[in-house]
Amino acid sequence: MSRPDLIERLAAAQAERARQDLLRRLRKVEAVDGARIQIDGKVLVNFASNDYLGLAQHPALQEALIRAAKQWGVGATAAHLLGGHREEHEALEEKLASWTRHKCALLFSTGYMANLGALQALLDESDVCVQDKLNHACLIDGARLSGATLKRYVHADVGSAKRQLEASADSAALLATDGVFSMDGDVAPLADLAALCKAQRATLMVDDAHGLGVLGDEGAGSLVEANLRQDDAPVLMATLGKALGVSGAFVAGSKALIDGLVQFARTHVYTTAMPPALAAATSAAVDVARFEDWRRAKLRHLVAHFRHGASERGIGLFDSRTPIQPVLVGASRSALIAAQRLEADGYFVPAIRPPTVAQGKARLRVTFSALHDEADVERLLNALARAIAHAQRATKRDR
Ligand SMILES: *Cc1c(COP(=O)(O)O)cnc(C)c1O
Repeated sequence: MSRPDLIERLAAAQAERARQDLLRRLRKVEAVDGARIQIDGKVLVNFASNDYLGLAQHPALQEALIRAAKQWGVGATAAHLLGGHREEHEALEEKLASWTRHKCALLFSTGYMANLGALQALLDESDVCVQDKLNHACLIDGARLSGATLKRYVHADVGSAKRQLEASADSAALLATDGVFSMDGDVAPLADLAALCKAQRATLMVDDAHGLGVLGDEGAGSLVEANLRQDDAPVLMATLGKALGVSGAFVAGSKALIDGLVQFARTHVYTTAMPPALAAATSAAVDVARFEDWRRAKLRHLVAHFRHGASERGIGLFDSRTPIQPVLVGASRSALIAAQRLEADGYFVPAIRPPTVAQGKARLRVTFSALHDEADVERLLNALARAIAHAQRATKRDR
């Protein structure tokens, strides 16, 4: 018998990754203090976090969490439909809907599960799902899970999306896009995509994991910034683990959408409800995120300062105005070497390599938080210039 061993095969794939400088490594964080983290006994300025507004350690969130945990206990003890759905969940759903200017919202335990559940509930085998080439992995996986035909269009190219929709004019269609692209930091052409979807009778779904809290009036997200309403983008998904500093996600839209998801989204029905204490902490986070505008103003200032300084130093950036400011390096090995050098200098900026990004597009993914200050950014710029030069010298020597 020649049946392959699955664990051996996995080990072989891992060895191959290591050979290509693509191995990922879990790092144990020993302490966190705002934008500082400690790894291997060394304190580093953290430029890798998605805690854009600096809320993860906010006292109002911590107090809300503890208060609710004392009232409800730690776990929800059941799925939403079977007694796990508490006052805190309901209040948070209403708050999220009103913040994002949608009719209703439904909580999920993670963004990954929200996207899987929404796509699987909406689509079936005879449908098409049209997606941006750079969409997050869980939108791709959700389309695969649904059994619909998945068609990818050229990144942010509305003409390319149009051709994909026109090619299957008789199928029900959903067009899904990230609002802010997680590895490039650019914003999707949402108004044009909404117009395209209207013309093509397709449903637009926007994953605003990195837009909520950061973009738009009161941080309500990329749809509000683009002046789009529920009717233009009927399915909104956003996460609670990024700018809100907590964990979980929600889908927002019409009552018909949310009622349907309660029935058919398997990742909502067949899973334990989010702990009510997390819902309480998230409610506190929404209040801070929504009304403390200075956090967004500070972020914009840091991003502008960084982009200006990078261009002065000849550091190659992406076309991004969000707190996601990747630095293109190219080869995976160079990105790894640069990241190591940055760490030695006191900065945590991870190298992002394939398959997360395309071959030859390895990068240092810098993200900013309202907890950084201008001096942090200035020192990072100098360290980045040194690290990139060092990586270039080192890879030249290899060749
Ligand atoms: C992080 C992220 C998700 C997944 O959200 P989790 O709550 O971390 O599972 C989905 N979409 C995008 C664009 C993301 O960046």
